[in-house]
Amino acid sequence: MKVLFLGTGEAFGERANTSILVDNRLLLDCGLTTLQQLMKLKFDLHRISVVYISHFHADHYFGLPSLFYACKEESRKNDLDIYTPKGGEDYIKNLLRLAYRKTLGDFGFKINIHEIEDGVTDEYEFSFSPMRHSIPCMAISIEKDGKKVTYTGDGIPTKKTVEMVRNSKLLISEAYMEGFDTHSSILEAARFARESDVERLALVHISRKEDIEERVKEARKIFPSIIVPEDLSVITF
Ligand SMILES: [Zn+2]
Ligand SMILES: [Zn+2]
Repeated sequence: MKVLFLGTGEAFGERANTSILVDNRLLLDCGLTTLQQLMKLKFDLHRISVVYISHFHADHYFGLPSLFYACKEESRKNDLDIYTPKGGEDYIKNLLRLAYRKTLGDFGFKINIHEIEDGVTDEYEFSFSPMRHSIPCMAISIEKDGKKVTYTGDGIPTKKTVEMVRNSKLLISEAYMEGFDTHSSILEAARFARESDVERLALVHISRKEDIEERVKEARKIFPSIIVPEDLSVITF
């Protein structure tokens, strides 16, 4: 599996919004800066077949109108499947109207919105489970050939998520800051990784105000295998 961190940042920081591309075809979250990151890589947008939106905060889905438009300008014909929590179709339709006065049918390729259920099977097996965030947010696990990667979106993991994540090769967890009710933190993510028996933990969506180095040093005492990926870095396993 190849995991490309297009963005690793929080909503308002210097880094690009957190967005991850798995195997060059599964896009996890599409914030305001996601298209720009793909363009920096001269990435062929036709290769993206699935977009997963963890929740409806702007740093996770406001990039969809630009992505759709760029696909249209590159004459995309292949379908694009979008998986979202409940209400996704309305959120995305409203956003398109506001952004470019467009509808889902205006881009020259088919956009299929799936408001998710558990265990959807593509070439990959997807599982979803809730996070505790200020609005509904779902974590996703993606499994193929016995390898599993999990991305939390925003929030604090629920019991169900700890179970779903179990045995992931890579857990990509948000780690915003200590002391929030609706966000995880570097130490919280380390405890989550230990509890769910993952191989490696990648921390994303960290607050621009957090002292990353100091906290990660502390967190490695809880769970040693932690990385803090940079924008546009890649992990393969
Ligand atoms: Zn966010
Ligand atoms: Zn959020």
